[in-house]
Amino acid sequence: MIPVTTFAGQQVAVFGLGSSGLLSARALAAGGAEVIAFDDDKKKLAEAQAAGLKTQDLHELDWRTIAALVLAPGVPLTHPTPHWAAALAAKAKVEIIGDIELFCRERAKSGAQCPLIAITGTNGKSTTTALIAHLLKSAGRDAQMGGNIGVPVLALEPFAHRRAYVLEVSSYQIDLAPSLHASVGILLNVTEDHLDRHGSMENYAAIKERLPANVQANGTAVIGVDDDWTRATAERIARAGKRVERISVLAPLREGYYAQGSRILHAGNGKADTVADLAGIGSLRGMHNAQNAGAAIAACRALGIELPAIQNGLASFPGLAHRMQPIGRKGNVLFVNDSKATNADSAAKALASFSDIFWIAGGKPKTGGIASLAEFFPRIRKAYLIGEAAADFAKTLNESLDGKVPTEISVTLAAAVEASARDAAASGLKEPVVLLSPACASFDQYPNFEVRGKAFSDIVLTIPGIKSAV
Ligand code: ADP
Repeated sequence: MIPVTTFAGQQVAVFGLGSSGLLSARALAAGGAEVIAFDDDKKKLAEAQAAGLKTQDLHELDWRTIAALVLAPGVPLTHPTPHWAAALAAKAKVEIIGDIELFCRERAKSGAQCPLIAITGTNGKSTTTALIAHLLKSAGRDAQMGGNIGVPVLALEPFAHRRAYVLEVSSYQIDLAPSLHASVGILLNVTEDHLDRHGSMENYAAIKERLPANVQANGTAVIGVDDDWTRATAERIARAGKRVERISVLAPLREGYYAQGSRILHAGNGKADTVADLAGIGSLRGMHNAQNAGAAIAACRALGIELPAIQNGLASFPGLAHRMQPIGRKGNVLFVNDSKATNADSAAKALASFSDIFWIAGGKPKTGGIASLAEFFPRIRKAYLIGEAAADFAKTLNESLDGKVPTEISVTLAAAVEASARDAAASGLKEPVVLLSPACASFDQYPNFEVRGKAFSDIVLTIPGIKSAV
C-alpha cells in the first residue's frame, strides 16, 4: 500500500467503499489523516467498520472542517445528476478528488523520480496497460500496474528508485484527478460510450483530452489519431508545445507510429523505419491490437527501452483473459475466448481477425443486434447461437444479403462448443477457429463475462486431445 501523507492532520471524507474507496480510506489513515468513511450500502459500511475505519453519515458532517471529499469513481460527480455526497461537498466548496489524485499528489511529494504511464481511451485501455507493464518488466524494469484494470492504485508498492507505475485511467477517474501529470499520457481513441455519465460527446472527449494534455514538463503525449476527436486533440496538444507521438493503424503518417500489414513503422525526418513486427503474435491479433501495440511501443521508447527488448516483450505478451484469448488447439482447430465482447462493436474486432470462423454468439441482446456485423458474415462458416438472443441472431444471419450463414440454435455454451468443435475439425479448412465472441451481455446465463469466459475455457479444456494454450 502507498500511504497518503498529503492530508496528514486533516479531516477527509471518503464516499463509496468498494475496493478502491476502502483502500483510499486506509491509505489516508496510514498517512496521518482523520478519515470519515461512508456508503449508501449498509453492507459496505459494515465492512469499513470491521476494517477499523470511522464511519459517519456525511449528511451530518460539519463540512467546514473537511479538507477534501474522496469519491469512488463509480459515484456520479455531475451526470446524470451529482450524487448527494458530491452535491454537499460542492455546496461547501470542498474539493472532490479520487484515488488517482491522491496517488499523483503523493508522487509529486516523494515519488517524482518514478515514471508514470497513464492510459485512457474508449477501447483498448486494459490491453495497452497490461502490454506496457509486460514490456517494461521483460526489459528488466521495475513496473507496477494498477488503476482501472482491477488493482486500486493505492494498493501498489510504494515509490522506490526508478520504479515505474502503469495506470489504466477511466474518464471518471480523470474527472477526479486534476493533477494527473504523467510522464507518458496515452489516449488511444474516443468513440461514443458512457454518455450517460458525461452528458455529451464534447464533454466526454474533453475529459479524455485532459490526460495527454496534462503530461508533465518533458513528458510525452501518445495519441491514436484514427478518429476525429483524437486527431483534433493531438493538434491542440502539439500546438501547446507538448511532445506528441501519433499512432495510426489506418494510414501512414509523416511523423509518428503506424501499422502496415503486421509491421509497426516509425516515421520522422522524411523516412520511415520498421520498429516491430506483430506477425505470429497470437495475443496481439487484429488492427485494434496494432493500435494498442503502437501506443505501447511509443510509450516504452519514450522511457528509453531499446527496440530489441520491445520486440522480445511483444512476442512473449500473454494477452488478457477473455479478449481474443487463445485457449487451446486440437489438430489445426484453434479455440478462442472473446467473452469480453459484450456488444457488436467488440465482436467486430474478433470477427475481423480470423478468416474461417465457427462462431459462438448470443446471450442477453443489446439494442441493434448483429445487423452491423454483416460485412464479416462471409468469414463465418457456421454460427452456434446461445441464450436469449439466439432466435433473433439466427434470423439476421439467415436473411443476410452478404451471404446466408448456416446457424444452429445450441441454447447452451456446452452444446455450442461440442457442435462447433466437431464441425471445425471436419471442415478440412487450414486454420478453422472456434470463437466465442458473443456480441451480447452474459446476464441471462452467467453472472458476468468473466464467468462466461471461464465456463467456455473449462469446457474446451475437457475436449479429449486438446492442447492447452493457457
Ligand atoms: P478497455 O479496457 O478499454 O475496455 P480492453 O483492452 O479490455 O479495453 O479491450 C476490450 C475489447 O475492446 C477487446 O476485446 C476488443 O474487442 C476491443 N478493443 C481492444 N483494443 C481496442 C482498440 N484499440 N480499438 C478498438 N477496440 C479495441
